[in-house]
Amino acid sequence: MSKNKKGKLFVVTGPSGVGKGTILADFFKNNKNGVFYSVSMTTRKPRPAEKNGVDYIFVSKDEFLKAVQNDEFLEWAEYSGNLYGTNKNTVFEKLNAGINVILEIETQGAKKIMAKFPDCITIFIVPPSIEELESRLRGRNTESEEAVQKRMNAVREELKMLDKYQYNILNDELQSACCKLQSVYEYEINHEE
Ligand code: 5GP
Repeated sequence: MSKNKKGKLFVVTGPSGVGKGTILADFFKNNKNGVFYSVSMTTRKPRPAEKNGVDYIFVSKDEFLKAVQNDEFLEWAEYSGNLYGTNKNTVFEKLNAGINVILEIETQGAKKIMAKFPDCITIFIVPPSIEELESRLRGRNTESEEAVQKRMNAVREELKMLDKYQYNILNDELQSACCKLQSVYEYEINHEE
């Protein structure tokens, strides 16, 4: 193995409520070494169980826009009324050190990453149905009715991007979706062009 081998970049997208947080938590429990989760910056308010610096770096809109001005983001996007961005330096630092990086981002950001990193590996977590997703989102009780409606509109847009992703993982059964993500990861890290 070459000493200068770079890490691989994985992009995971999935609509709100699809269960990608749970799938990724399971993934990181099983893959402690050699892979890094890129914590994004957001202007969204933290949900009750979320921790600053772990789930997101929670900032004000002013702080976020300052980071945009300072060219700190690899990509950023507005989603459902909030801003989200991926830190550029952290991602490059990890990839250059040979560490694989996972970005959990929505479709507009993913499109930018696909253009900048043609070799990135793209995975879309697919909900069993729109109705199921809406009911999961409501069941979570973290969003107002208006926010749920806004997110469902965003989801309908996002699902149009499915075929731009190399892998679609259907989350109709959690354990099976977790296994599929693990298989994709193992295949991709052991697979050379
Ligand atoms: P949530 O508010 O539910 O945590 O996230 C809303 C959406 O923003 C999700 O689709 C999530 O994947 C996406 N997201 C999180 N971080 C980033 C980021 O840094 N950039 C982009 N473009 N999307 C992000």
